[in-house]
Amino acid sequence: MAEIDQSRHLGDAFPGPRAQALADRRDASVPRGVSAVMPTFAHRAGGGIVEDVDGNRLIDFASGIAVTTVGASEPRVAEAVRAQVEEFTHSCFMVTPYEHYLEVAERLAELVPVPGPAKTALFNSGAEAVENAVKVARAHTGRQAVAAFDHAYHGRTTLTMGLTAKTMPYKHGFGPFASELYRVPGSYPLHDGLDGAQAAARTIDQLDKQIGAQNLAAVVMEPIQGEGGFIVPAPGFLPEIVRWCRDNGVLFIADEVQTGFARTGDWFASEHEGIEPDIVTTAKGIAGGLPLSAVTGRAEVMDAPHAGGLGGTYGGNPIACAAALAALDTIVEEGLLERAAQVEKIATDHLSRVREQDPRIAEVRGRGAMLAIELTDPATGEPDAPLTARVAQQAREAGVITLTCGTWGNVIRLLPPLSIGDDLLREGLQIITDALRRS
Ligand SMILES: *Cc1c(COP(=O)(O)O)cnc(C)c1O
Repeated sequence: MAEIDQSRHLGDAFPGPRAQALADRRDASVPRGVSAVMPTFAHRAGGGIVEDVDGNRLIDFASGIAVTTVGASEPRVAEAVRAQVEEFTHSCFMVTPYEHYLEVAERLAELVPVPGPAKTALFNSGAEAVENAVKVARAHTGRQAVAAFDHAYHGRTTLTMGLTAKTMPYKHGFGPFASELYRVPGSYPLHDGLDGAQAAARTIDQLDKQIGAQNLAAVVMEPIQGEGGFIVPAPGFLPEIVRWCRDNGVLFIADEVQTGFARTGDWFASEHEGIEPDIVTTAKGIAGGLPLSAVTGRAEVMDAPHAGGLGGTYGGNPIACAAALAALDTIVEEGLLERAAQVEKIATDHLSRVREQDPRIAEVRGRGAMLAIELTDPATGEPDAPLTARVAQQAREAGVITLTCGTWGNVIRLLPPLSIGDDLLREGLQIITDALRRS
């Protein structure tokens, strides 16, 4: 297949005629609940470009929501998938197991920052990983309560909806939710003005007084909150929460579904603060675009559920495992941890300069290739969701795949694949900047 030209290109009409015809078919055959950010349909993707069905080439600032970190058509991943499909597509690890699953578990045991020996169970989606982490934590502790944070996102299944904070669009009308799930405040320095120790003290007071450590199986937290607004907790917050958990026999589950696998410039965002979670959930960037997720935890914790208590038909599918091994090799061989740090430098330099001129940017934050700007009204400090929507819309119309996030919908987030070139990265940033200036 020909390489995709690494330049932005929009034809006379965007969306073009093929995309519009597909949109009509989509409206007739797919429920509106499954909506799309971009007004077009993908044909192929790679490097820093998604090419649509009309030949338009879009700058990829989304990576399919932090999934194609190694690129959307990484040759190592493509070759591993091809080879595995020819061997066998599925045997079910619970029926006739296979080596690739073990290799993924062994690699994760080396990489994931849990203390001591680690074991891994594989699943299909991030939500499924979080659900299973909760099952493991309950089995290990014999306790039921689980605490999650303000602004948290952990998925859309019935259990994980209860852990997710934001009602619209994730939960509205879909209750009742699972019981024994509790929400506590976390750390959002821009809005709460607390340092790490102060925010942790507030959190711990609620954990202790409103739930009770002896009832609590686990505290679940994203080390950098994703959908909630790319919120980086104040330094010291995470270590203090982990310390309290350990002192009280509560398991700390780090949900690294979005932050994992080089996205933040480390293998896992937990490393930046030096925390050692009992369980880490991963998905998204794990397998170069194939559906795979993992629960990796301290061996004695992971062994708590009875034999046969964990699993699923497709969990750890051999094609997805082969892709994961190739994606992990790619991260090492292409130096993608360093690449994420370079992306951070280029983007934060650019955005910080813009912020000096434009007080509507309340904060430039994030780490590695997981970066965001939060937009507020400079007069009041109130979140400015309409402005954010206009900027994102204009950037999309100019051919940059742009995502927003945040509890108040006022955060523009950048999640480029680490295969993007510097020129495309700079061009995409400039387009977003121009959109902001015009909005
Ligand atoms: C996306 C996400 C999930 C859910 O993953 P799915 O694969 O969509 O089920 C869970 N946790 C975090 C932190 C996420 O970003």
